[in-house]
Parts: sequence; C-alpha cells; structure tokens
Amino acid sequence: MGLVYDSRMRAIVIGSAAGGAFPQWNCGCPNCVAVRAGKEGYLPRTQDSVAITANGDRFALVNASPDVLAQIRATPALWPRAPRHTPIGAVVLTNGDMDHVLGLFSLRESQPLAIYATPAVWRGLEASILLRTLKRFEGQVVFRPIALGEEVALEDAAGAPLGVVMRAFAAPGKLPVHLMGHAAESAEDNVWLSLRDLRDADAKRGSLAYAAACASLEGVDLAGHDAVLFDGTFFREDELVRLGLSKAVAKDMAHLPIESGSLHAKIDARRKIYTHVNNTNPILGPTDERRAVVAAGWEIAFDGMEIEV
Ligand SMILES: [Zn+2]
Repeated sequence: MGLVYDSRMRAIVIGSAAGGAFPQWNCGCPNCVAVRAGKEGYLPRTQDSVAITANGDRFALVNASPDVLAQIRATPALWPRAPRHTPIGAVVLTNGDMDHVLGLFSLRESQPLAIYATPAVWRGLEASILLRTLKRFEGQVVFRPIALGEEVALEDAAGAPLGVVMRAFAAPGKLPVHLMGHAAESAEDNVWLSLRDLRDADAKRGSLAYAAACASLEGVDLAGHDAVLFDGTFFREDELVRLGLSKAVAKDMAHLPIESGSLHAKIDARRKIYTHVNNTNPILGPTDERRAVVAAGWEIAFDGMEIEV
C-alpha cells in the first residue's frame, strides 16, 4: 500500500463538524450559504470523528458519525488491505448522540467490531434497533464497557491489541436528545478521553485528549497532554438565538462556548485544537472570531487533519 508511518501514535480527524455537518442540508445560515457557494476561506466539513493509530496499520475510531462511509473513502489509511478487511478494529463512543453513533449502522456488512462505551451509553444503544442490526452473528459486536478513570488497552473484536491505551473520564454533558425523559441522567452519559501509545510509559507524554462535547472545564484536567481536541461547537453562548435558528443557548446543549469559556482558559498542552464545530460558528470563515482564536494559540480542526503526538 505504500503507507509508511513512523511508530508514533497519531490521530486523523476524519470529521470536524458538529451534528448536521457543514453545510447542514437544511440550513441557510450565512456560513452554510458561503460554503455552498465555494467562498474563499470556507471548507466543507463532515461530522465529528477521529481515527487513532499507534502504527498506521490498525485503527480505533473515536465515534461513528453518519458520514463514516464518506470519511473512510476520503482517508486512504482506512481502506481495506485485502478482499474482506478493514484496518478499523474498534469504535469508542464518547456519548450516545446521534452524530456519534449513527455511523455504526453503516459499519455492519458482517464485520466484527469491538465497541467501547460506558454502560449508560450502551443501554441507550440497546433501547434502539441499532444493536440488533449489528448482531447478525455471534461475536459481530463485542461490547467492552468503559469504566471511568480506568486505563484500558484497546483491542479489536478478536482481542488483538491496537497499540493504544485509553482512559475515559466523566465530562459535563447531557443525555442524547432522543433519550431525554426516557432514561435517568448519569455521569457516564458523556466522557472525554485521554489516549496514548501503549509503548509510552509516561502516561502524559505523547498523549492526546479528546473532549468534543464538554459543558464546562470544571473538573476536566486536560493539562500535560501533547494535543487537546476540544469542544468548538459554538463561538458564542447565544449563537443560535442571534441567528434566529433556535431558542436554545450553548449551555442548554451542554457545550462550553469558545468566547466566554475555553478561549482564554488555562490549558497546558502543546497543541489546542477546536473540533466538533457547528455550522453556525463564525470561526468557520475568515472572520475576526477566527483570528481571535488563532491569536489565542488555538488551531481549528479540518477534515483530514493529522495530529502526531
Ligand atoms: Zn448553517
């Protein structure tokens, strides 16, 4: 295949937009109009997902977005190496939001997969038809429960190691919209991940933090990570209200807004990168808001961005 990688862990951002993608099919906000028109400075983006690998050979997907098939097509590292094959050995779900789980539907085709999720997120999946679709034969889906704070070496469905070590922590969040009123809220509804190469003894050197949905930085210790992928959903608390698109503010959707939240927060990391960016967010265009973000030392994820840690 001619894929030559060094032995460092790396992440490929295969989708960098929040739910709905960019442009969103039913949205005519100024950003979505601009990106459809191909305006300079605007890049289309698919929905949030990251592929993690320690060796370039086997991958774990963090979240499975509704765009997963297009994301795999656009990412040669994720292409099959044999007539029936995938480099993807596991999917880690950080919450049960539709933009993070619907892609599981597309990853069936009788392919064994390990799915890492907290018991709360798993119960949400079991309450839908999703899992039955994925259980055509014994062992097609292997559930590996995430225990908060516990270190786990990721493995594929057959138990082969993927070379990546993960710890998950509760992140201030909320239940998926479709489960509100149908399930009790739990600290396990939404997690952030700390990922590192199995070969690195030092837990924080060469490590990546992923917190794509985070309502607050209180109790979320991202310090010491080499790279932090953080919730860039909204620039302003009342972004959707100002655009006349919704009555909900960022807090209602459990997202910490950039301007009054994360932008000037003290996060001790070599690289800080916003991802899960909503299509209404002004940082998606060549704006003062984007310049402010860059001036504060933040990067903005795009589809295909590679992060070496
Ligand atoms: Zn829009």
